[in-house]
Amino acid sequence: MKKVILANILNPLSDKKCEFIKDGAMILKPKNNGFVIEKIGQASKLYKEFDNVNIVDLSDKVIMPTFFDMHFHWVQDDVRMMPKANLLEWLDKYTFVAENRFKNKTYAKKRAKEFFERIVKTGTLGGACYSSIHEHALDYAFEYATGDFVIGNVLMTINSPKFLTQKPKEATKLADKLSKKYKKKYALTPRFAIATDPVTMSDTAKAAKKNKSFIQTHLSETKNEIDFVTSIYKEMKGFEKIKTYTDIYKKCGVLSSKTIMGHGIHLSKEELATLSKTKTAIAHCPTSNAPHKELGLGSGLFNFKLVEKNNIRWALGSDIGGGPFLSMLDVMRSFVAQNKKAKVSGATYVKALFRSTMSGAQILKLDKKKGNFLTGKEANFVSFDMPKLTAKNLNSENILKKIIESSKNDRSAYDALAQDVFFLGHKIH
Ligand SMILES: [Zn+2]
Repeated sequence: MKKVILANILNPLSDKKCEFIKDGAMILKPKNNGFVIEKIGQASKLYKEFDNVNIVDLSDKVIMPTFFDMHFHWVQDDVRMMPKANLLEWLDKYTFVAENRFKNKTYAKKRAKEFFERIVKTGTLGGACYSSIHEHALDYAFEYATGDFVIGNVLMTINSPKFLTQKPKEATKLADKLSKKYKKKYALTPRFAIATDPVTMSDTAKAAKKNKSFIQTHLSETKNEIDFVTSIYKEMKGFEKIKTYTDIYKKCGVLSSKTIMGHGIHLSKEELATLSKTKTAIAHCPTSNAPHKELGLGSGLFNFKLVEKNNIRWALGSDIGGGPFLSMLDVMRSFVAQNKKAKVSGATYVKALFRSTMSGAQILKLDKKKGNFLTGKEANFVSFDMPKLTAKNLNSENILKKIIESSKNDRSAYDALAQDVFFLGHKIH
């Protein structure tokens, strides 16, 4: 039987365009084990087709596509609120210790169940996720994740605490095995060039490409990280002449159209050109990059205009635990607020929504089926209370602004703002 969703509808179409349908209806038809969108429009125009259908009445709500969080570490849930004076110090002091706990299978399983139940409730049903070095932690993440996540175990073979350091051969064997097992759901995840040696990066990247897996890592998040990584690689055989952080990844064969670089804040002209040429995408994490007083790492402001000028694809991510909150609403808020403060134009809520939905789907090559409400796509959506606006002010930008700014003074409340979450047309929260 068909389903009809009655709701106000926000449908992100581009950076500049988000269709708003007041008192809308979405007619869903069954396909496989779920539902896809058959028709979308104003309820008053579609009501003749409402015979013999299941009606889901969300007419006091506004729905939008579920979110893609394109960079987060599910194993860093415990360090979100730890002091973040310095990236490398925060990793050493808190993060590595927290990730080490996942070596215990019972603990890892329990945490995976909790985390992935929690993320669904925020309306995020897809994205790119980092796990710890442990094989079972990755298996549990896949077992409990609902939606479209690519996930990878981090590879750590150098400059890491002893308790998290893998032998290069073991790291390579494990990555090859998991990439073969999970194929395009797997993301090969050298933690970053500081922690993964170049031979391991090169060898595993070949296997990942063969298995059609994704690749993700961190690039140019902070200046002291860049100085450190280039200084250690210049001492390595074959890397004496590298000029930039991006050069290291390029030389290791890590850059590709299925590669997602986290952050990319401090990039030179040459690096931007390299990323563009290799079709590498960037995950931008504003709440993690935000100043310390906003609970971030203070890494700087991502230059989205320059990145777009270079035709580099990018999408938003929470970077849990560099970022403090799971909800993509807080990420969108931060993106708009930081750019507004820096007097950068074009960082609208409409753009933020597009970069939290369609852009992620595009980078994961799922945009034919997901990311917005075009007919034929899966019915994956999240509802929020419809804000009150006068007829004159009723448009997509203002609706998003009202919803997103409603919790700006209590950011921990964002996680609970999502009301109903539907995946493949089924209510899962
Ligand atoms: Zn990260």
